[in-house]
Amino acid sequence: MEPVGRPAPFLRLERQVRRLQWLAVVLVAVIAILPPSLFVVFELRHLRTETERHARQLALLVVAEVERAGPDVDALRALLERETRFGLAALALTDPDGREVVQIGHGASLLSTSRIAVGLPASTAPFAEIRVAGDDKRLLLDAARVLAIHILVAGLLALAVYRLPMRSLRHAIEEVEKTHTQLLHSAKLSAIGETYAGLAHEINNPLGILLSRVRLMLAAARGRGFDTDLVRDLEMIERHGSRIGAIVRGLLVFSRKTSFEAIDTDINELLHEVIALVEPPLGKHGVKVLAMLDPGLPPIAGSRDHLQQVFVNLLNNARDAMPGGGTVAVRTYTVNGTVVAEVEDSGSGVPPEIVDRIFEPFFTTKDHGTGLGLSVSYGIVRAHGGTIAVECAPTRGACFRVSLPAGGRPT
Ligand code: ADP
Repeated sequence: MEPVGRPAPFLRLERQVRRLQWLAVVLVAVIAILPPSLFVVFELRHLRTETERHARQLALLVVAEVERAGPDVDALRALLERETRFGLAALALTDPDGREVVQIGHGASLLSTSRIAVGLPASTAPFAEIRVAGDDKRLLLDAARVLAIHILVAGLLALAVYRLPMRSLRHAIEEVEKTHTQLLHSAKLSAIGETYAGLAHEINNPLGILLSRVRLMLAAARGRGFDTDLVRDLEMIERHGSRIGAIVRGLLVFSRKTSFEAIDTDINELLHEVIALVEPPLGKHGVKVLAMLDPGLPPIAGSRDHLQQVFVNLLNNARDAMPGGGTVAVRTYTVNGTVVAEVEDSGSGVPPEIVDRIFEPFFTTKDHGTGLGLSVSYGIVRAHGGTIAVECAPTRGACFRVSLPAGGRPT
């Protein structure tokens, strides 16, 4: 089967989701950063207004004190120290040259907006100005803490927003792609089936006539005691003709051109019979069969002989896949109204490069293989309204999974 690239609509969908993800991330970031930033701006403006108010009040007090007791530096320092309130980092009285004559508090504000200077009237000479600094360091520290928490929470949120939809989208795309691939695969097999069905029909009729004549001739030759060479030749023609007949029948089954008579079938019972049949020859090859059958399995409508053929094929293939011996597990269980039977071996698995071809008629990697076992099994299972698939985990053998509708009628 040709490799299937990711179809354009999926790529477009993925791009759209990526765009939406980035938009969501930006929104989360804005929502996280905007409120604390606005809060800081608001608080800084408030601090400035308060500092301005303090500065003006203090200027009035300075004027009153100088009028009362003259420009006494110690008295003014004591007064200002009393009046210094929470929210002020520093306070100073300057002379007309800008030198600080009285200085209270050691903190300095970080932002120029928090530093206020109010001019004093001539009556307060030698003091010309009062300078007040708002305590913005504490405010900024608190804001930085809040901002850090917001950014952390927003970062985690953005990560979740970014990852979650992409993960579920990838999952959905993978599912659709898998179905798409399976559909292409069955379409291809069904096209192959149609081709072979025509050919098989053409061969079947003349072959039937040919074989019946050969068998009559053989019987006559044997009955009349004819020359053994002639009998041997007829036997050989009959043997090879029968072989062609088996191949043709296999192709007709693969193309679903054979009808089955369906009866209620217990898959567990059928598997017990198959295992009993193949266990001795498999044992000779060092292959052990482990049956893990779900006792609560519902019956299915099917053709026992044909389904037996499917599992014999799978078990024989498992044997061929383990030339040095090994284990083959046969499991049954039910999933959503489907009876599932798995045959899993401990061989080296189906190589990925041929996995898409193994259900095609005549595809074989064995020296003496016919390449019909799996294609015939495929036809039988499909005719029962079921599916057959192989799963190969990298370090394990092949696991063939046959799913059949519980209690369903064959198509
Ligand atoms: P055949 O057995 O005659 O080759 P099949 O149709 O039964 O024909 O199998 C086709 C091919 O699928 C095999 O030749 C083999 O390469 C591969 N195959 C089938 N079953 C297994 C398995 N259990 N493990 C590994 N490869 C397998």
